[in-house]
Amino acid sequence: MNYLDDMRDDEGIEPQAAEKPWAALYVQSDDCNIKAHREEACVRVRDYFEQNCPLPEESRVACIFAKDDCIKSQLNRDVAARGLFLAPVEGLDLTCFPPYVHDIVAPIDQRTSECAFPYAGMILLHGSTCETDIGLTLTFAHELQHFLQYTNAKPLWVMNKLLMCLHNEEFKVWWDFPVEVEARVTAKKVAECLFGAELVREHIKEKIKARITCDDAKDWEFVQGIVSSVPYNLGDCTRPLVRRHRRQLDELRQRCQEDADAAVSRSKISLTLTSMP
Ligand SMILES: [Zn+2]
Repeated sequence: MNYLDDMRDDEGIEPQAAEKPWAALYVQSDDCNIKAHREEACVRVRDYFEQNCPLPEESRVACIFAKDDCIKSQLNRDVAARGLFLAPVEGLDLTCFPPYVHDIVAPIDQRTSECAFPYAGMILLHGSTCETDIGLTLTFAHELQHFLQYTNAKPLWVMNKLLMCLHNEEFKVWWDFPVEVEARVTAKKVAECLFGAELVREHIKEKIKARITCDDAKDWEFVQGIVSSVPYNLGDCTRPLVRRHRRQLDELRQRCQEDADAAVSRSKISLTLTSMP
């Protein structure tokens, strides 16, 4: 059974407006009203990026909005996890994802019977994240910003990923990494633009109060303190970290070179290290 036959994604509902949208929306819900409402909320976020951000010319991202939190438990994710961005899609272990996700991001080409990979990356939001429009907006915008980092600022994206691999004691929380700070700044900026600063402030206050986990509450406190009108420069914030940890990064590169199966490819690391000041 091809699960896509049963799904209405936005490539199907607006074929003329967007033959192949850079961010293709796949909203899952058994309730057609909820589905339509979430699709509208998603389109508003996507429109914001189209009007305010440089978009990649060729790379596309599949944006999947789950109807529940089943995938979160299958992936053994933190109970407070709201969404994820994964790239590249090719080579990803998709065994933990339900068949409909395979059909979207790795469909079988009927002519060649081989797996095709129409998207450079995939975004997934858990069902509970989509229950409020502001919650959906904050997380969707956060993950879209990661997609833009991956496509438009690849060396900085890779450096941040390598810094995460160091497990250095300097990095204690996600927002110690510049790609995560920038995603949070963008998310708040988009939500404030679409809903107004007051409603966003209320939403954040509720999340802090809910205290799903201690780390989650700290994360929301960090977001609360962001002044989204202050520009954040990903390069300026990443470069000092690379300089400070260059020795460890070189060692990591060497280890990767010795291990052909290392998760991060050799070419990407050497390219990135040489292009960083
Ligand atoms: Zn993130």
